[in-house]
Amino acid sequence: MLPRPDAKQIDRKGRMALPHQPVPKQPPEERVRNFEEVYRHYDPESAVTEAMRCIQCPAAPCSKACPLHNDIPLALWQLEHGEFVDAATVFRRTSTMSQVCGRVCPQIIQCEGACIYVKKGKPPVAIGRLEAFVADYQTAHAGRDIATAAPTGHQVAVVGAGPAGLTVAQILAHFGHSVTVFDAWPSGGGILRYGIPKFKMDHRIVDELIAHTERLGVEFVYSTRIGEGLTVDDLLEGGYEAVFLGVGAGVAADPKIPGCDLEGVYSATPFLIRANVDGELRPRELAEPPEVGKRVVVIGGGDTAMDCLRTSVRLGAESVSCVYRRTEAEMPGNERDRALAREEGVGFEWLTQPVRFLDDGNGHVVSMECQRMELGEPDESGRRRPIPIEGSEFLMAVDTVVLALGYWPDSRIGETTPDLETRDWGLIEIDEETGATSRPGVFAGGDAVVGPDLVVTAVAHGRRAAKAIHRFLVGSH
Ligand SMILES: Cc1cc2nc3c(=O)[nH]c(=O)nc-3n(C[C@H](O)[C@H](O)[C@H](O)COP(=O)(O)OP(=O)(O)OC[C@H]3O[C@@H](n4cnc5c(N)ncnc54)[C@H](O)[C@@H]3O)c2cc1C
Repeated sequence: MLPRPDAKQIDRKGRMALPHQPVPKQPPEERVRNFEEVYRHYDPESAVTEAMRCIQCPAAPCSKACPLHNDIPLALWQLEHGEFVDAATVFRRTSTMSQVCGRVCPQIIQCEGACIYVKKGKPPVAIGRLEAFVADYQTAHAGRDIATAAPTGHQVAVVGAGPAGLTVAQILAHFGHSVTVFDAWPSGGGILRYGIPKFKMDHRIVDELIAHTERLGVEFVYSTRIGEGLTVDDLLEGGYEAVFLGVGAGVAADPKIPGCDLEGVYSATPFLIRANVDGELRPRELAEPPEVGKRVVVIGGGDTAMDCLRTSVRLGAESVSCVYRRTEAEMPGNERDRALAREEGVGFEWLTQPVRFLDDGNGHVVSMECQRMELGEPDESGRRRPIPIEGSEFLMAVDTVVLALGYWPDSRIGETTPDLETRDWGLIEIDEETGATSRPGVFAGGDAVVGPDLVVTAVAHGRRAAKAIHRFLVGSH
């Protein structure tokens, strides 16, 4: 691996004059007809040129802004010299999920947002896409490190095969511990598979992530929900010395809108699973793909809403609209995904809220009564509160409605694990330094601890907890 460059070697002016290399993407009219990744890959030449734009800032604001503190300048230095595998190795020192994070992190509010070019009004170095490029290259050409320490004899149970749980499993397996991952779904990946659509990230990446984790010796037990039958106490009494809870926050918020039990009204996760997950990996009750008809409305303004909107376009709907009760300025989701949705023909109804869904007489939704809103004073979220405008009700004809109104934690783990402290309807309380919960030997991280968040945060929590679990295990004998 090349050593880090001397700051004096760097021709900053020359580098800043290099043109930005946009990563190619499928044109909208083509991509709305398939579920393939929107972004195509860099070719090696453009990746090298883009990496050369990095001026190797000694303070590395990009690394500081990355929740995993990836050593981005060093990785890009390897990349620009054609050392693609070494570049991937640098990213993987701190990330278990480079192929994933390179594609789905909201880089513009993280590493790329801190890039010096942004201050100068220029496109930042495309750090995310470059990370994906080298991680894909390493996976395809060199394979990943599967060296593990000698078996320690310690056994750990991980509950949840999402980014948090998989990170813990991989790191503990490298330490030589024996790890079993339990998950309620029929396959692994958590939201990476049972949420994020294929056009954002090819699910073969999730397959590879699971296969890699299995190669490290980790065992998976699927279709098993801990807290129903088997409990955390059963795991601890059954020989596991530590348990990690990475159960996410996957319970859909209750819409409290009359008519939401009508046919044609979907909750976001089942809708995305039916449309995006390969048939044999879907649970039996979600086996059928959704039939969306001509007019789809998605309620909500976050990333999940954008995923449902863009999925609906690909399912062939003629008119796809996002109904949101505030304005674009208050929208919580990623700007990049919103721009892509617009390019794909998605429309937006701002300051609008559904009041009830109406029946066609046969139990299927046929229209939606809405109300216009205006913005009042900021609420506890800091965003201006939407207030209904009296007498503004109107009807919108619909064939399908998707509710993407947010998620809550599942309270079951808390309810079935004595002395496990939880808050806010089930979020698990932890020690911020270690991820340890109030129950000795039980650790937690990811969305189960902070509520709906990001893949990279779940990975960061998993890294922290894995190290603490290792200390707990080796210190206990
Ligand atoms: C539709 C959608 C799109 C998203 N897009 C992005 C994005 O583009 N970029 C981004 O950074 N983040 C995105 N996120 C958020 C991100 O996916 C999550 O923050 C992240 O997956 C959380 O990881 P986790 O491991 O904590 O939980 P999860 O990924 O939710 O995994 C939890 C796992 O635990 C299992 N489980 C739950 N309870 C039990 C139990 N009792 N017993 C056994 N197993 C159980 C579940 O089946 C699941 O597999 C998105 C979220 C959604 C819903």
